[in-house]
Amino acid sequence: MRFLVTGGAGYVGSHFVYEAIRQGHECLVYDDMKRGHKEAVHIKAGLIVADVREQEKLTAAIQQYRPAAILHFAALALVPESVKEPQLYQDNNVGGMKSLLEAIVAAGAKTPVIFSSTCAVFGTPKKMPIAEDDPKKPQTPYGATKLECEKLLAEYATKHKIPALALRYFNACGADAAGEIGEWHEPETHLIPNILKAALAGETVKIFGSDFKTKDGTCVRDYIHVTDLARAHVLGAKRVTASGLKRDMYEVMHLGTGKGLSNLEVLAAASEVFGKPIKHKLAPRRDGDPAELVADPTRAKTILGFKCEHSDIKTIVASALKWQKKLDS
Ligand code: UDP
Repeated sequence: MRFLVTGGAGYVGSHFVYEAIRQGHECLVYDDMKRGHKEAVHIKAGLIVADVREQEKLTAAIQQYRPAAILHFAALALVPESVKEPQLYQDNNVGGMKSLLEAIVAAGAKTPVIFSSTCAVFGTPKKMPIAEDDPKKPQTPYGATKLECEKLLAEYATKHKIPALALRYFNACGADAAGEIGEWHEPETHLIPNILKAALAGETVKIFGSDFKTKDGTCVRDYIHVTDLARAHVLGAKRVTASGLKRDMYEVMHLGTGKGLSNLEVLAAASEVFGKPIKHKLAPRRDGDPAELVADPTRAKTILGFKCEHSDIKTIVASALKWQKKLDS
């Protein structure tokens, strides 16, 4: 199949492209390169450097490339930044989604869309694990913009018969086994890369919050290897392009392992993989961190037949460490 991949130079997008190409598919990356990296674009993928809000360019790309599905990863995804600059997130994320949907309408293509969503749409959920239809109350502008995008997808599926699948990720982490790509954010705010950066530099990583009502007082998250996320997207693409599909299909699925690890458990696993203890310091809570976020992955398993294969925490850390060493060198 042929895929148009917005944000295909970013973290999850580039891993999707690597996995899709490995499985024999073709990809055209569409990325403005403001946060993405040219080096992360697979050598066999095409590349258009443009903003998703440049609707005419997007329409032309859809008309010329005729993708079987569009994978929409392009978005801003730094929670603290979204708190400081909510309008920037509204413009990029919601504006980008609207532009993509209007570009599909203008191209007269009705191309199915797979959307990169997040468990941040839930805020602080009342029950664990989190199922797709549980109440949503985003706590940050980032989460709110992703929820708004989901609503737009549902609306366009009904009105314009553009099938859509929103995949809500829990904690994406790890790096492609080939060692060519990995997590590369500037600034880096995520736990696993920050632990490994500290380990490699002989520095101390801060663990934010130790007074949560969890097994050891630190936050609990559901860590899923980015290659598993990528594999789920390929399965999703097969679903949204299947013959006999209802054209007004709109579905949401959670991608996670269903198991939670505390920040201290992640640190312990990282120390084991690193081969010596990694120095840490317990620090005050970070604004807006919910105590626990764990997916109920049943729907993706039942409908897509999706099962994690790379998401054991030591496998995750080992792949991330290999990448971090390359990035630091
Ligand atoms: N965290 C931490 N130190 C860091 C980065 C993150 O203690 O340097 C904590 C963070 O406060 C949260 C957990 O690790 O409790 C996961 O954070 P991350 O930013 O990786 O993912 P999020 O769940 O916020 O999307």
